[in-house]
Amino acid sequence: MIKAITFDLDDTLWDIWPVVERAERLLHDWLMARYPRIAQRFTPLELREMSEEVAALRPAIAHDRTRLRKDALHLAAARAGYAEFDAEAAFAVFFIARNEVALFGEVRPALERLSRRYTLAALSNGNADIRLIGLHDVFSFSLNAIEAGAAKPNPLMFELACRRLSARPEQIVHVGDDPEHDIRGAANAGMRTVWVNRAGREWPGGPRADAEIRDLIELERLLGAWEPDDTPTPAAGDGRYQGIG
Ligand SMILES: [Mg+2]
Repeated sequence: MIKAITFDLDDTLWDIWPVVERAERLLHDWLMARYPRIAQRFTPLELREMSEEVAALRPAIAHDRTRLRKDALHLAAARAGYAEFDAEAAFAVFFIARNEVALFGEVRPALERLSRRYTLAALSNGNADIRLIGLHDVFSFSLNAIEAGAAKPNPLMFELACRRLSARPEQIVHVGDDPEHDIRGAANAGMRTVWVNRAGREWPGGPRADAEIRDLIELERLLGAWEPDDTPTPAAGDGRYQGIG
């Protein structure tokens, strides 16, 4: 019996890269107005790459994208010659825009329907905020890599989800777009896995997900097939069942 469904967020429920690129442009505009030497010296892409530089230098915080962005901004400010820098205000500009996502069309109604039958939770490596995005009413809770202390495919986030859901891994279906983070990670944790493949990509290799879908409408059909309605159907020909509908 399936008790809960956990969902990846970025690239599963919305396209993330246009959102990140816009958020980085808005942050760059903000820097140009308040700390112009940073914006003149570094492009938005170079500022993003500085997060990778920080992650390589400090593997212990590599799973924490919020911390990486803030530390990268501090580094950029120092390199541009600012002794004082308000990283919280700068990050807030990015963070607000990062949560201005456009859900794929079927997502909201499908999650509403699913939430009536299953407990839903969000498991993300990124720093999306389901409250800012307006999905806090369909998800019972969300976990990210910062709260779990490690990013998917590490089992920590999946184990934490099981505890919060009071469910065994085999009672949980994890749904996500990333073959490594979502499918391998959740399968290793013992969950059932559903690969969201909206673009019709080739499976990259290795053990496949238990199922593959193009959108959440297909997820609803799939769950219906995995868990057929257990209402007893009268035997055919007994004279009572009229086959209405
Ligand atoms: Mg994803």
